[in-house]
Amino acid sequence: MKKNIPFDISASEGNGSKKKLLLHSCCAPCSSSVIEMLAQYFELTVLYYNPNIFPESEFNKRRDEQERFCREFLKDTKICFAGTDYRSEEFEKTAKGTENAPEGGERCTRCFALRLEESAKYAKENRFDFFTTTLSVSPLKDSDRLNTIGTALGKKYGVEYLVSNFKKQNGYKRSVELSKEFGMYRQDFCGCKYSLAERIMQAKAFIFDADGTLFDTMSFYENFAPNTVRAMGGEPKPELREQIRSMTVEDACRFFKKEYNLPHPVEEIQKTVSELVTKLYCEIATLKPGVFEFLQEAKKRGIKMCIATASPKEPVIQGVERLGIDDCFEFVVNCAELNTTKKESKIYEEAAKMLGADKKDAVVFEDAHHAIVTAKKGGFKVVAVREDTEKKYADIIYENSDIFVDSMLHLVQRENL
Ligand code: SF4
Repeated sequence: MKKNIPFDISASEGNGSKKKLLLHSCCAPCSSSVIEMLAQYFELTVLYYNPNIFPESEFNKRRDEQERFCREFLKDTKICFAGTDYRSEEFEKTAKGTENAPEGGERCTRCFALRLEESAKYAKENRFDFFTTTLSVSPLKDSDRLNTIGTALGKKYGVEYLVSNFKKQNGYKRSVELSKEFGMYRQDFCGCKYSLAERIMQAKAFIFDADGTLFDTMSFYENFAPNTVRAMGGEPKPELREQIRSMTVEDACRFFKKEYNLPHPVEEIQKTVSELVTKLYCEIATLKPGVFEFLQEAKKRGIKMCIATASPKEPVIQGVERLGIDDCFEFVVNCAELNTTKKESKIYEEAAKMLGADKKDAVVFEDAHHAIVTAKKGGFKVVAVREDTEKKYADIIYENSDIFVDSMLHLVQRENL
């Protein structure tokens, strides 16, 4: 490679017409400066094959952005685009056994090889003169490793790999400039769910919901509304659970009184409920699987944590103490004291502020779909924790969370992520 040229320029020299090059691309922002440079020397086709990207919506977003960029970037030069559908099982198979490897380790070597092998095959089948990848533009990607893998695959498939290091000549800096100029979408993690989990574990603050996220208490809350109305002499309607879903316990008691015309004063209803709730946290509630271990790991990493709940504060504090996790949290805050509900993001914003963290450095953990939607719309990264009572809202949860976990521990022990 000539000094200061990020690829072997002699490869492009021919009999006057440009040679055909297949450029594997991970995303539009990374491809921008590479396309700008290579299009001067080659007839380019961009291949978007990235089964590592998680989740599918992120894969689609990056693919659409790549296609748009190929179409709109250079007015006088045609850049062809070729994309595949989402084939995440190919990445999962490749990554098996390396889920816990750090970014830059063995999993990434396999991930590079997977994507470059598909590119080599495509280049051979479609009679390209060369193939290469945008990956070396990233300061986090080792160009020597990419060149070694690409060259070996080029030999295997009988198509030449263009040795390159697109970081050179300020390639990365230029890609950032072009991304801004074209208003491009750029994520803050490499792409796979393991890199996303690592990004989450680098947050400064964690904000946890209590019921259904830390505590296994949702079956109580599923039945508490009809049980309370019945105990007070009313006949609960089928839609009752849904009607009180995002209410605080205090507001729910007022609602029972009004909606069912209960003879008891609100204070009495609240007292009955309060006794039940106190018993729940002081005697019955257990932690969901993996919560204790996950909190210890987060504490070890110095992540500041709190609980932001719609449930009554004192009983939750008692539950946290009884279950031996009180030393993990800076504080518990609830909706009632902030005069809000989880239909607005105020509680998460206040919690982040009290933890001394910027919104972009805080992660919200929730199980309920309405709260997940609120936190996401509020600009937080959201981890959705599996809760059976939310099963019917699975689509909304997938769409509005960054990652969905069966157990929080899977963010650290990633084999089952
Ligand atoms: S961190 Fe990036 S390069 Fe490494 S396996 Fe994940 S997506 Fe692939």
